[in-house]
Amino acid sequence: MEAGNKERKIRRSRFNSLYVGLLPLGCRLCLKGAKLVVFLTGKCNINCFYCPISLERKGKNVTYANEAPVTVYDDILREAETMSAEGASITGGEPLLYPEKVLNIIALLKDSFGKKFHIHLYTNALKLNDNLLHELESTGLDELRIHVANNVILKKVVRISWKELSTLSVGAEIPAIPEMKGFFVKTIRKLQETGFKFININELEFSDSNKEELMCRGYKVRNGSLYGVEGSEETAIFLLKEIARQRSLSGHYCPSFIKDGVQLRMRLSRRAKKIKKPYETEIEKGVLCKAVIYCKNNLELLKIKKYLLDRYSLKEKLVFLNRDKERIETVYWLIDEFSNDPLLKKYKMGVVEELATYKRIETTFIPYD
Ligand code: SF4
Repeated sequence: MEAGNKERKIRRSRFNSLYVGLLPLGCRLCLKGAKLVVFLTGKCNINCFYCPISLERKGKNVTYANEAPVTVYDDILREAETMSAEGASITGGEPLLYPEKVLNIIALLKDSFGKKFHIHLYTNALKLNDNLLHELESTGLDELRIHVANNVILKKVVRISWKELSTLSVGAEIPAIPEMKGFFVKTIRKLQETGFKFININELEFSDSNKEELMCRGYKVRNGSLYGVEGSEETAIFLLKEIARQRSLSGHYCPSFIKDGVQLRMRLSRRAKKIKKPYETEIEKGVLCKAVIYCKNNLELLKIKKYLLDRYSLKEKLVFLNRDKERIETVYWLIDEFSNDPLLKKYKMGVVEELATYKRIETTFIPYD
């Protein structure tokens, strides 16, 4: 600890993450699921051993808006509308491998949703220069988050004159890697001197693409977590305490459960409200539920639909004929009655639960015999 620097208080957010100082606006919107995630490219110019990008995307020049593939810019706008986004995060891979694309997307989102639509960008800064930095700011970027992955990046970012920026807020993203604790303490101290506003510390996580590398280094999943790495949380808290001793730097520790358990669910819930069909119910955040009755052919589908409309006095909009899946989809709360109905009970039926993602992933089928 440097002499005279009093440790500030570490607080708990309402989502159970820890922070000191001010929670960055990008984090606040992300925690409530209000950020559209623009995955700009799976390509990157470094190769971090802990890189968590899925095998499906890693190294490929593919773009997604949340889980929806993007082929034209309109796909991004459509997804932003579908989830009633209040902002966007542009991530990758390394987005600044394609600076024109990043600038176009920022301009497009600001033009379409207004100045208050908050945009933050993740980068490892290797492609960043003064011109590009000022272009990003003048195009409307609100927050820049630099992944300080190694000494080369740290040396580069301390040379940039961040204090000349007027509206763009600059922070860092660091993974809580136990073996890199010393490097990150040095990073925190340097970034405080350089004028960074905040540091977001992420719990180190196992993923399909990094599990071998992590296991080779002796890391294990911590007790009580699905993906979080043992020792990473302790490292994060140690680093957060270091931030608490700095004069003006804010810090946030984002545990792995926040991404799946909170942020993703909140985002899917916003999506569910927009994509929900009249016969579907959101039974928990981001999960849509309905009854299904399987039929063998088109004739049967039509016959059962008519029967449901007449016998159960259901409105037309509450009975959907899904020809692709050869099933009737309707309200789930009548499933007990359907399963006891002499005409219906010979058909395979049940209750289906779907995640409100782009592909509407079916997570559960509960059969009613
Ligand atoms: S900078 Fe990010 S995207 Fe690139 S390899 Fe490292 S973790 Fe992966």
